[in-house]
Amino acid sequence: MIYILIILTGIFIGSFLNVCIARLPAHQSISTPPSHCPNCNRQLTAYDLIPILSWLFLRGRCRYCGASISVRYPAIELLTGVLFALCFNEFGLGPELFKALILTSFLIVITFIDYDHQLILDRVVIWLAGTGVCINVLINHFNIILQYIGVSTAFYAGYTSFTSMLLGALLGGGLLLIVALVSRGGMGGGDIKFAAALGLWLGWQYTLMTLLLAFLLGGVIGVVVLALKIKGRKDVIPFGPFIALGAFISLLYGIDLLRIYIRWLL
Ligand SMILES: [Zn+2]
Repeated sequence: MIYILIILTGIFIGSFLNVCIARLPAHQSISTPPSHCPNCNRQLTAYDLIPILSWLFLRGRCRYCGASISVRYPAIELLTGVLFALCFNEFGLGPELFKALILTSFLIVITFIDYDHQLILDRVVIWLAGTGVCINVLINHFNIILQYIGVSTAFYAGYTSFTSMLLGALLGGGLLLIVALVSRGGMGGGDIKFAAALGLWLGWQYTLMTLLLAFLLGGVIGVVVLALKIKGRKDVIPFGPFIALGAFISLLYGIDLLRIYIRWLL
């Protein structure tokens, strides 16, 4: 039952993330004007805006002008729902879940904007960095705050020290800066800032793991894409989505991965 609730929350947040993905790169406000059809500009009613269902009932077309609406909208809504469920499955209810859901939302927005425009927006990265610091400080003091307001339940809450956050930012930004310098333009400034901001969220250990995973996934998928001739050698494959995927995997399964790795080493 609670899974259904979490997935539904994810689906509704996902529909907001769609708005961010479409409007932020165009420097439009994410709150006004209300949602409208990009083709005929008709303002959409509540009936048109039920996540996933509206798209299915209207068979992926605008009710007013019949322009087709990309399957990506419901797909991102569903993806958000599924990723939220994975977060809940890993952390249960508590401050860690809150952190995971917010980070996941950021990662989805950054991934799809980067995929569309080969661009990671400074504004989004600044918000990412700011929320990361706030949430970690909040979680570090979560049980103290609860005691203060008279709740004696001690939630499990991971601790990310300031030192680890700072090292994470330096490590994330620094490593990618080196890659950018060595590869001469293979890595964009957006990727460097993105990795630095993630360092603040994840601390240095998970940041390192994030980048390792990103290079691994990027390498494998890059080879597959070239082999299948989906893209040519000269096409740009944005790296942001791989950093995002690496961060998601590190946050949720970092400890499990480390255990497997150590067992494999010994
Ligand atoms: Zn329309």
